[in-house]
Amino acid sequence: MRDRPAVDASPEASAAIDAVLDRFGIGALRVAASAGVRVVHLRPREAYRDRSRALRRLASGVDDWPVPPAGLFVVEERAVYLRSTSPMTVAHEFAHALDCALGGGVYLSGVDPRVRRAFRNARAFITPYAASGLDEYFAESLRAWVEANDPRSPWPRATRARLREIDPAIAAILDSIFTHDLAA
Ligand SMILES: [Zn+2]
Repeated sequence: MRDRPAVDASPEASAAIDAVLDRFGIGALRVAASAGVRVVHLRPREAYRDRSRALRRLASGVDDWPVPPAGLFVVEERAVYLRSTSPMTVAHEFAHALDCALGGGVYLSGVDPRVRRAFRNARAFITPYAASGLDEYFAESLRAWVEANDPRSPWPRATRARLREIDPAIAAILDSIFTHDLAA
């Protein structure tokens, strides 16, 4: 049994991706690996549809967006697809994978009443994107928990201290998840 997700990437990209994954801790990597999560870095000029059967079927159009997304997580394949290896992208997409692993194949954030309540009652969000839905709320909060940021992002830095300050409810939930469900 693997103790961390398989990463399909060049050695250089693998090193960048693994460094971000390490921020989540051994327990989280183990939970993701046992749920079958893997990470795929697209080669230059490769499209999502070239690597993902599901995206070919469901949303092949994503490759034709003026700016295709930097990364995607495909639930049915348990696969994180990355065009970018920036810490923000890797952490955000892996956070979706972890959400799915914690939920046993569906997003925990969608079914956990604690997360739903925290989202409903939130008065501020760690980033603007976190406000766009339960899954993005959870992913961005997790990214803040592991403090994966890009220096060039226009958004405020996502840090654990800021998360505790502006949204103590989700911070307490993540604290509990990492202490109990994702303990090393
Ligand atoms: Zn997302």
